[in-house]
Amino acid sequence: MKYYSTNGNAPVADLRKAVVKGLAEDRGLYMPERIKTLPKEFFDNMKDMSFQEIAYTVADAFFGEDVEANVLRQIVYDTLAFDCPVVKVEENIYALELFHGPTLAFKDVGARFMARMLASQNPSEGGEMVNVLVATSGDTGSAVANGFLGVEGIHVYVLYPNGKVSHIQESQFTTLGRNITAIEVDGVFDDCQRLVKSAFMDEELNRHMRLTSANSINVARFLPQAFYYFNAVARLIENGEFGIENYDYTEGSKKGMQANLNSPFSIPNSQLVMCVPSGNFGNICSALFGHEMGLPVSRFIAANNANDVFYQYLQTGQYNPKASVQTLANAMDVGDPSNFARIINLYSRNGQLTPEETHRRISSLISGCTYTDEQIRETMRQCYDDTGYVLDPHGACGYRALKEQLREGEVGVFCETAHPAKFKEKVDEILGTDIAIPERLQAFMRGQKQSVTMGKEFQVFKEFLLS
Ligand SMILES: *Cc1c(COP(=O)(O)O)cnc(C)c1O
Repeated sequence: MKYYSTNGNAPVADLRKAVVKGLAEDRGLYMPERIKTLPKEFFDNMKDMSFQEIAYTVADAFFGEDVEANVLRQIVYDTLAFDCPVVKVEENIYALELFHGPTLAFKDVGARFMARMLASQNPSEGGEMVNVLVATSGDTGSAVANGFLGVEGIHVYVLYPNGKVSHIQESQFTTLGRNITAIEVDGVFDDCQRLVKSAFMDEELNRHMRLTSANSINVARFLPQAFYYFNAVARLIENGEFGIENYDYTEGSKKGMQANLNSPFSIPNSQLVMCVPSGNFGNICSALFGHEMGLPVSRFIAANNANDVFYQYLQTGQYNPKASVQTLANAMDVGDPSNFARIINLYSRNGQLTPEETHRRISSLISGCTYTDEQIRETMRQCYDDTGYVLDPHGACGYRALKEQLREGEVGVFCETAHPAKFKEKVDEILGTDIAIPERLQAFMRGQKQSVTMGKEFQVFKEFLLS
């Protein structure tokens, strides 16, 4: 498989380059050249397949040409050492719980897959260590550090702002040791990000060591997120909650990359609505790729907090990025979602369609919503009172969107993107609860903190890396 850049000014890359580089030379995001429709037998049989088997089928469609079958199977099985169950919250509304991994958020899936994929691509050629640099304001650092923990040939440096990360979050990447080094920077998140960017651009450093990023724009981090959408549909069918008897699985491919652009753009006749609380739009983007492969979902909802650039795009066709505002659902505080470029590229068929037609297609498939912190609180309380289900602030946006937008005859699934215990203080304060902290999270909190403290000057960071 070849990968092209959304900016169209970089040479196509093979899988290895796309995974090791992350971003194309023209700063565009890599897109797979083809998105294969999965065969009818897969959809007929999926209810009898395990999560891992389903995931392997999806992974094979993207990576099968480049990675040996037994290696790819191992990567998939190692990644999915935990489940992503679908839980009924109330009539016609289900939570796709993506928080059963090591750091209790959906980013575990992509980070674990990417770590193993990177290791399989012999990134180090000749035994030289590959160094992953990641700046974090909390969640990404823990998912990446845990995803890469113990993966041979790779060393991870997590840079985080001193005093700006919660104790729970900090414990998830500072207590690991082994091939993970936590660097506590005397500054803010932007300083951490600047240090990482400077490192990637520093010639001398790059001559001496192999550096890579584990950013969410990496194809090996975002594509595997499609796994759990297929599994969610399979489990709903298995449990008799939803049927696809009349579903034409080729609908997605009719709209596919290679499709006849004159064919009508129609929505499949399944009645499943997938709702994704979104920030950088990587998670929903992988669901949309799944849809191209035949995922039987009739429409999508992108749930936003007060950061509403995508919502505004859906309403107006204009994309106006702006500075992010801080909210209760802070992992979705993004003012210029990086995967917006992928969504546009996908539905414009790599720039073949006009912006107007592209917008028409996107807004006929995806609807949006935007909620204030007060609405998030209110939704968490309402759901808890009515159903007993504890939402985290991110999942609350998804649940509310379904409550407001689900139509007669539709079944709705929203992603519960993090475990509520990750935000225990806020959740307890809002609901008046004392929710239990899962054992694996407590284990982190009992661990011994190991970190290197550092100023925000690049020279110091550079010397540290070289030493
Ligand atoms: C990262 C994150 C999101 C946003 O996902 P995107 O892929 O950036 O849209 C939502 N919820 C939680 C808990 C997250 O950590």
